[in-house]
Amino acid sequence: MRSDDLCPFCSGCEDCLHLFISCPRAQSFWSYLRFDLATVVDIEQLWLANPFQETNQQIRTTLLTCVLWNVWKCRNAKVFRSEDESNLRVATRCHDDLLLWSNRSSKASVKEKLVE
Ligand SMILES: [Zn+2]
Repeated sequence: MRSDDLCPFCSGCEDCLHLFISCPRAQSFWSYLRFDLATVVDIEQLWLANPFQETNQQIRTTLLTCVLWNVWKCRNAKVFRSEDESNLRVATRCHDDLLLWSNRSSKASVKEKLVE
């Protein structure tokens, strides 16, 4: 386990904004998803930027949480297993998580949108 605050991908200072938004590794994944986060300066702003263009707040929050969760897991794969996960692998895991999480919603419309 690292005792410093250096990013495992680029050696920048690993704070919340860096990990999820400004690190080149995170930017690569957001670009892979075809989202430009150039105007996002903090995590909370992600909900306002609404990169998924989702009007349903429950779905928007679930999608963003899923992406952030999997960026975190990608970081942990690097730190704990020295693995460099591909964007495809991270995106596939997002899809699988959304499929799993969609079963938690009782609303059929939410389930359908999450597994699209
Ligand atoms: Zn970094």
